[in-house]
Amino acid sequence: MSNTTKPTEVAKNAAAPSTPIPLTRKPVAAAPTSVVTAPSGTASKTACIRTFGCQMNVHDSDRMRRMIQDAGFAEVQRYEDADLVVLNTCYVRENAVDRVRGHLGELNRLKKEGRVKKVALTGCIGAANESRELEKQYGIDLVLGTHNTYELAQFVGLPGMDETFTPELPGTEGEHSAFVTIMTGCNYQCSYCVVPSVRGRMVCRPMENVVEEIRRLVGSGTRYVTLLGQTVDAWRDPAGSGERFCDLLERVADEAPRVWFTTSHPSNMEDRTLRLIGEKETIVGRLHLPVQSGSDRMLKVMHRGYKSDRYRRKIEVFREAVPDGTLSTDIIVGHPGETETDHEETLRLIEDCSFDSAYVFKFSPRRGTEAAALSADPSGTVPEDVAQRRFVEVLRAVEQNAFRRNKSKVGAVEDIYVRHGRTGDGKAVGETWSGHAVHIPTEAQPGRYVTATIESAGPHVLYAGDPAGRPR
Ligand code: SAH
Ligand code: SF4
Repeated sequence: MSNTTKPTEVAKNAAAPSTPIPLTRKPVAAAPTSVVTAPSGTASKTACIRTFGCQMNVHDSDRMRRMIQDAGFAEVQRYEDADLVVLNTCYVRENAVDRVRGHLGELNRLKKEGRVKKVALTGCIGAANESRELEKQYGIDLVLGTHNTYELAQFVGLPGMDETFTPELPGTEGEHSAFVTIMTGCNYQCSYCVVPSVRGRMVCRPMENVVEEIRRLVGSGTRYVTLLGQTVDAWRDPAGSGERFCDLLERVADEAPRVWFTTSHPSNMEDRTLRLIGEKETIVGRLHLPVQSGSDRMLKVMHRGYKSDRYRRKIEVFREAVPDGTLSTDIIVGHPGETETDHEETLRLIEDCSFDSAYVFKFSPRRGTEAAALSADPSGTVPEDVAQRRFVEVLRAVEQNAFRRNKSKVGAVEDIYVRHGRTGDGKAVGETWSGHAVHIPTEAQPGRYVTATIESAGPHVLYAGDPAGRPR
């Protein structure tokens, strides 16, 4: 077994049980990820891309970054230095729109002062009806949804591109870690969710096309591939081979040295996929499986399509197949109609599943969704103070379990993949094969592995001592 695959059984056993990945909320506003310098002599045009939301958006931004670079723009970090500003946005919760409004207001002012020339609004808000109001109100020059980001190419002066999704524009090629979209859209209709209306129905990418991209990425130095989609485990080969997500994951795990995937839906998750995570040494032992609620009544109202016991059974299979793995989830508190009994059932499920981390959201009514209509009826809404209390109780319950599980990792020797290099006098951030986030005192560059002992643990992260040997 190479240094860059999962640890041996000995190391696994020595490492005792499992534990978490931090974060109680999904990252919301990612700073621009890199600065691209235009070819010398052509850097007279500048652009700033600001990304909000999930990894799908980060990935879309990478593709737009490439178009902008090809059109001869230099990327800058500050709005006031940019000729063109692209806001690639998220629409999942209302506060995401509020946040973008703040940015649009500032950009409008900079445009009036002649410091910014053009503003483009892309991503999930761009695909929503609300974008028309924003366009008028803030004088936006270009509005694109998630299905037509390729039109940015023409806007910045490149020839138009006929594009469906990623194939011709791989996002992060050449970097240590890359996201690969395997499906877009979603065929579910969860009561609270805008994704189906802004991203459309599910479109799966052919297996061979995905595998080819991964070969190319690995050939150019990528060491960590994350398969992306709203419900990746619903993937089916559109070429009609009958192959499902598990088959794709297995192929990818044979091609790439380190693999993860997100997000999955409990109704699609097959037991054989869960077992594959434990069997394949290149797949990170971390499962993100959003449950949303522990109450069967609420799961029905939300149209999730499963009951809480079915979810529990999936988790049992995962824990058995990947004993030292980590499990994270998404939970919504305060959905219209949620009672105290429903909330208690969520707390019970948290105890039973012992999550290593969770993204906890307070319900936010999204225009056009079924739950937004429900929330228009005051008798069904959960008062803000109640939602806040439930939010804190859920967070606390998750953290207590996570902390307990994290502490059991202390003393383990781990092969740690460096995800983010050391900044200032801070520590590098890495990930174990079990999917735990670790802070490590190392100068190793992202994409390298170090071996170190876990010295202490917090509820969200593990802390390693000085690594033994050299980074690999
Ligand atoms: N496709 C993924 C996640 C999509 S959005 C899935 O089905 O699991 C990411 C998370 O945001 C959801 O899992 C949900 O927990 C949360 N979310 C989505 N809409 C929301 C809303 N209106 N209010 C609060 N949280 C929401
Ligand atoms: Fe939204 Fe539900 Fe689809 Fe996830 S599965 S994207 S929550 S509709």
